Amino acid sequence: MPLPRLFDYLAPQAGPGDVGRLVHVPFGSGLRVGILLDVGVKSELPEEQLKPVQEILTDLPPLPPEWMRLCEFCSGYYHAPLGEVMLAALPAGVKRAVPTKRRQIKARARRDSVAESLPELTGEQAAALDSIRAAGPGFHPFLLFGVTGSGKTEIYLRLIADALEAGGQVLLLTPEINLTPQMEARLAARFPETPPVSLHSELSEAMRARHWRAAFTGEARIVLGTRLSVFTPMPDLALIIIDEEHDPSLKQQDGIRYSARDLAVFRARQRGIPIVLGSATPSLESWGNAHGKRASARSTSRYRLLTLNMRAAGNARLPTVRCLDTRRETMREGLSAVLLDALAERLARGEQSLVFLNRRGFAPVLACPACGWISRCNRCAANLVLHLADRRLRCHHCGSEARVPRACPGCGNLDLQPFGRGTQRLEAFLAECFPQARLLRVDRDAARSRKQWEAMLAQIHGGEADILIGTQMLAKGHDFPRLTLVGAVGADAALFSADWRAPERLFALLMQVAGRAGRADLPGEVLIQTQYPEHPLYTALTAHDYPSFAFAQLAERKGAGFPPYSHQAMLRAEAPEMAQSIAFLASARAGARSSEHPDVALYDPVTMRLSRRADRERAQLLVESFSRPALQGFLKEWMATLRQIKIPARLRWHLEVDPLEF
Ligand code: ADP
Ligand code: ZN
Ligand code: ZN
Repeated sequence: MPLPRLFDYLAPQAGPGDVGRLVHVPFGSGLRVGILLDVGVKSELPEEQLKPVQEILTDLPPLPPEWMRLCEFCSGYYHAPLGEVMLAALPAGVKRAVPTKRRQIKARARRDSVAESLPELTGEQAAALDSIRAAGPGFHPFLLFGVTGSGKTEIYLRLIADALEAGGQVLLLTPEINLTPQMEARLAARFPETPPVSLHSELSEAMRARHWRAAFTGEARIVLGTRLSVFTPMPDLALIIIDEEHDPSLKQQDGIRYSARDLAVFRARQRGIPIVLGSATPSLESWGNAHGKRASARSTSRYRLLTLNMRAAGNARLPTVRCLDTRRETMREGLSAVLLDALAERLARGEQSLVFLNRRGFAPVLACPACGWISRCNRCAANLVLHLADRRLRCHHCGSEARVPRACPGCGNLDLQPFGRGTQRLEAFLAECFPQARLLRVDRDAARSRKQWEAMLAQIHGGEADILIGTQMLAKGHDFPRLTLVGAVGADAALFSADWRAPERLFALLMQVAGRAGRADLPGEVLIQTQYPEHPLYTALTAHDYPSFAFAQLAERKGAGFPPYSHQAMLRAEAPEMAQSIAFLASARAGARSSEHPDVALYDPVTMRLSRRADRERAQLLVESFSRPALQGFLKEWMATLRQIKIPARLRWHLEVDPLEF
């Protein structure tokens, strides 16, 4: 149960060997699946009050002690009840009272038992691989910093081959479900005898349970999964790889807000195996770890840095990146003449282009110039986004929708105006400019299901699209050989965001989207429209100089005392009234016996940037310390206090350790 306590039962039939097994137990009025954590302990309850375990399930081996330790660590570090962690760590299909039928995961060896021929490694790849191999077994964390297209994946594949050869299992984490089909295909092609099993939230319950079991029994040798797969028990685990280790999607954003990357590092250390974190734009935490910039001298998780500066494939070069100063350029519908000309040029040459705008919909808001009415969400402190494709106004925070009104609800004016620009509007304008071009808009509205998404990818690869209009969905990890031009539009907003992590995310996103251009033999060009071409972020970006950007950011963070130089936790509350949320946080702060924790700073409760979402008023309180142990010690004690505070019926609160968003 998601409660900060365990439950005792009678189980005379259980021995120490049953620890880690699933059991059926009576709970409340029904029967539940539980996990046997210990046997032979004396309960604090008198024996008459204990109910007997109904059945000890033996169709699975016991969950290993190592898995228990991982869950305990997660529970302790993120201050979530152990029951809740274990509940989240097991796939629903495994927790079912009735076990799902077992089906063999068959190696697809029949189709093709000859592995593809291996490319000869570049010098940089060989050097990186040698370093990893030379380190040998044992806990060795590596940060593989390689520009887009530098062949990081090829290094993963070689390492996986080594691990399989030695009889090990491999866990490969990727941040996005969208990236798994591609990686799955590469793994299946390279390792036809040991095809990967995937684990992510879009699998059917039965399929996920089946894959999980295959990993747990050792039948599957390669597990490819999103963050939740970090909990998969793997008896022969010998290597962990995290692709795009900087990606915020590796952090769970509801329930237990764990970082799959950090848990994976814990897991590797606990098991004494190597872990490789790969990225073209490493997180500043990992960058700091690789450069010995941790505030705490006792940090043991220093990473070895391995660098790939050049693209791997044949003549592939990094694209040229240039800023277009929107204050000086001739602009039409938000696109500069230079970018439009560049698009025309690609079209004439039969090459693909991508216009990147990280905002879906037609326009972020619909407004009435006569009376000042704007399309607001009734339930959130946000605007409704105009979606012209299906003539809806839609809230991107709570999902509320409405028809587009024919006239202003305020004054009856018929001339409502869309303000700002989203992908649909860009698409409409580009269709006007280039009537002969085949346009393809790729965002979450156009690619709602995995099927649609895969169909779009096939369309792009098949050369059936000339100009792609896309959000960050298209930015990551895809290899489009005929794509030679990327235009980035509307990026500036993140430069001056109140969220101090926004520049880091913007840099990563632009670097990634830029990385889509010129992957094969055709050289790529990236044009970034901005009002601030001299901004250091853009200067570093045009020079492909992530290190100078990262060091500058780290210096700023050090000056400001931000992570990774300090450690943070965020207590958040939401309730029908803002006063209730603030009052809860205020009493939480008052109950914090701060004088006993001089190393921990508690800030005032403040409203969140999105102050209302889905009819709930949201506020937060930041807790900070230069010492992780001090912060952890404080949080442990504080959580016990917080659980005692009486709260209004409709107030919800949670604590997030190492928050990524403000
Ligand atoms: P990354 O993961 O760093 O973005 P990939 O591993 O996807 O890069 O490699 C980019 C492209 O380069 C792929 O098409 C891949 O097949 C190719 N490639 C990788 N290593 C080599 C190599 N040693 N020789 C030739 N091509 C390579
Ligand atoms: Zn009006
Ligand atoms: Zn809303």
